[in-house]
Amino acid sequence: TISGGPRTIRQLPPNLVNQIAAGEVIERPASVVKELVENSIDAGSHRIEVAIMGGGTESIRISDDGCGMTAEQLPLAVASHATSKLPDDESLFHVSTLGFRGEALASIGSVSQLTIRSRAEGETVGAEIVVRGGVVEPPAPCGCPTGTVIEIKNLFFNTPVRHRFLKTSQTERGHIVEAFTRLALANPQIHFVLTNNNKEIYDLPVTQQWSERIRAFFGGEIGDSLIKVADGSDDIRISGYVADPSVSRGNNRMQYLFLNGRHIRDRSLQHALGEAYRGLLMVGRFPVCFLRLDMPADLIDVNVHPTKLEVRFTDGGRVYGRLLQTLRHQFLKTDMTQRVGPAQ
Ligand code: ADP
Ligand code: MG
Repeated sequence: TISGGPRTIRQLPPNLVNQIAAGEVIERPASVVKELVENSIDAGSHRIEVAIMGGGTESIRISDDGCGMTAEQLPLAVASHATSKLPDDESLFHVSTLGFRGEALASIGSVSQLTIRSRAEGETVGAEIVVRGGVVEPPAPCGCPTGTVIEIKNLFFNTPVRHRFLKTSQTERGHIVEAFTRLALANPQIHFVLTNNNKEIYDLPVTQQWSERIRAFFGGEIGDSLIKVADGSDDIRISGYVADPSVSRGNNRMQYLFLNGRHIRDRSLQHALGEAYRGLLMVGRFPVCFLRLDMPADLIDVNVHPTKLEVRFTDGGRVYGRLLQTLRHQFLKTDMTQRVGPAQ
């Protein structure tokens, strides 16, 4: 009962801390896919395969051919606040990897059954570690190719509220496809495969042409209407494609923005896009775009949001201005017949 006296203050046990942390980052199966694929990208993989069953509600398996982990590293990898991506305390201010919080595997392991099989480059044998609801078993040797395979089962089995909020396998599958799309769009230099119930959804070979990967996802109508954008006049570089106004959308979901290789949502940049298309689109229509912004890491703070979807620019006004100016400039010199045609 709440009385006037002092309350008991209790230091929470690590497993509960991890479950609370998981609540922030691991909202649904698609969040697992995002975190694990980001790890595979950070590991320098050339090929990443995402195999889900039941839209990710039954199981999720991510296989990569990246640097792998040793048996000694596995218990650390699943521990909270343990990362190989911040070698010293200064690195937080110029993060170049997708991960750095060292929380994803610990969070996922605290709310599921997580199995990691991994073999580091140069090792003759691999190792396996299993985590069930935060309980970590000691690693055991296992045979596997170089790289890492991570499998998640029984997601949210010990967090009934989250489990109840899981939607149908079709809905969860849709969220995974969207997460996969963002990651594969951001990394055309990586071969990506996605299957659901052993049926192929996407098999995307490596390509040098970003437009090819865009076309693989969105088809010819969008692929044929892309207008190339490139501007690298200072330390903010902008490149990619905007689509012809004729393929506008009724919402802004087809505005893909990547900042230093990371997919972001940013209201201010979306506003700049809208401004650039002003007069070209009817009210209520939104442009389609695929744009990469690259800038020195110290112009950005990615440490704002646990999933890093939102970032903060140290000079947001300058980024806004640059994007608007680049697009306006491009529209002025674009002869609308000069698009990326099917031949390219
Ligand atoms: P973070 O990515 O923020 O470092 P994670 O919990 O996602 O935290 O991963 C912890 C660590 O485990 C990583 O820093 C990395 O060293 C290692 N790791 C995770 N996934 C992989 C992988 N697919 N290949 C190689 N190492 C991995
Ligand atoms: Mg990570």
